[in-house]
Amino acid sequence: MTNNLYVYNTLTRKKERFEPIKPPFVGLYACGPTVYGDAHLGHARQAITFDVLYRYLLSLEYKVRYVRNITDVGHLENDADEGEDKIQKKAQLESLEPMEVVQYYMNRYRLNMHALNVLDPSIEPRASGHIIEQQELIELIMEAGYAYEVNGSVYFDVNAYNAKHPYGQLSGRKVEDLLSNTRSLDGQSEKRNPVDFSLWKKADPAHIMRWSSKWSEGYPGWHLECSAMSTKYLGKQFDIHGGGMDLLFPHHECEIAQNVAGYGKPSVRYWMHNNMITINGQKMGRSLGNFITLDELFEGKHLMLEQAYGPMVIRFFILQAHYRSTLDFSNEALQASEKGLNRLLNAVATLAGIQVSDKSTMDVKALADRCTKAMEDDMNTAMLMGHLLSGITQINKLAEGKETITTEDLEKLVSLYHSWAFSVLGLQLPETSGKASEITGDLIEMILQLRTAAKSNRDFETADRIRNELTNLGITIKDRKDGAVWEIN
Ligand code: ZN
Repeated sequence: MTNNLYVYNTLTRKKERFEPIKPPFVGLYACGPTVYGDAHLGHARQAITFDVLYRYLLSLEYKVRYVRNITDVGHLENDADEGEDKIQKKAQLESLEPMEVVQYYMNRYRLNMHALNVLDPSIEPRASGHIIEQQELIELIMEAGYAYEVNGSVYFDVNAYNAKHPYGQLSGRKVEDLLSNTRSLDGQSEKRNPVDFSLWKKADPAHIMRWSSKWSEGYPGWHLECSAMSTKYLGKQFDIHGGGMDLLFPHHECEIAQNVAGYGKPSVRYWMHNNMITINGQKMGRSLGNFITLDELFEGKHLMLEQAYGPMVIRFFILQAHYRSTLDFSNEALQASEKGLNRLLNAVATLAGIQVSDKSTMDVKALADRCTKAMEDDMNTAMLMGHLLSGITQINKLAEGKETITTEDLEKLVSLYHSWAFSVLGLQLPETSGKASEITGDLIEMILQLRTAAKSNRDFETADRIRNELTNLGITIKDRKDGAVWEIN
């Protein structure tokens, strides 16, 4: 199990050689969505970034346990410590149970992810299913002296922690600066210090999502779930923790503090963060009217969209930028991605019809090496796609007979394109279109009518032959009193 993979570690601000703690096993955790609304481009970028990492590690033959959580409780409006739960707020607006909201958006999120060919994680734990684990961690943090209880709520004591362990390492912030940037406590707050954050909140009477605990009927703080669930499934120390850059502070910073306070050591070896997506140069936001969901993109239903963009166009668009660079959405950029994707898929199709020769004029090994190097350099999919696209010129020359290739080199070239484009980057050939499958259905019906006609003419030989031929094609025929029915296996 050797690799030459270097990843940029947000914690040390350096590219570091990737060495798993216990090879061949790799523990990978990425923060998943808070399920109170439809997924948008930002969700797609985060999911695709860590999907490609997951796929790449699998291709290097690591045994990867990929945990991607679902936040279904505790994430309050504006990521704050006081206020309404995002899911509960949505539930009240729609007169639904909070768990109905969760189920609805979780199902839709999974459909979007499958459309984008994002692999399912190994485990998809939900915060509401791990309340006991979160309470246990709070107790450990309290025993270690880094948390205090006030009126049934428990807060993390940042000052006590910072006296022994530096707080703010991941985001490069200092407690003093945070304090001067935070408005002073208004006398209403129970916190000792404005930078403290909640581990457990006592539920006010209107709060529906609540669990009993030794402190109060309440609910966990947002940051706690990822500490508790990553530890439960990946151990007290694991390899990679990923997420969007917007989660770096306070979410991941607090996660580190909770783990060190509760378990005595930092849990994560490599922190990886993907950059954000802007829309025509602007930050994306519900209030700015430039908030485009994935379904709207797939269907072309948004005022800002000139056309619909298929899931593979979105995937291509996201991967043609390095994950740590910003990426700006525009119709032009997506149209360019659509062209690029089609060029790549056409080239893969062209490869199937190339004539071989006893001599290669194309240097397949050099192209393969360039592709490998790009991915080893902090997963540079932008560079990798550039190499794959530049190889197309040569593929076209091979097809025109202007360059030649041996059988062995052609096999390598085919496998190079298939493994990078399909297995690692996760691009897919377009699904059989609705029209094509409609025609297929009509054709099968027509053939079955011919078979029925043959049977009524007592031509059983022809009827059986049709049945056998269809079976060979993977189409099963079942004769019923009212006619034959069929299904594709
Ligand atoms: Zn998280």
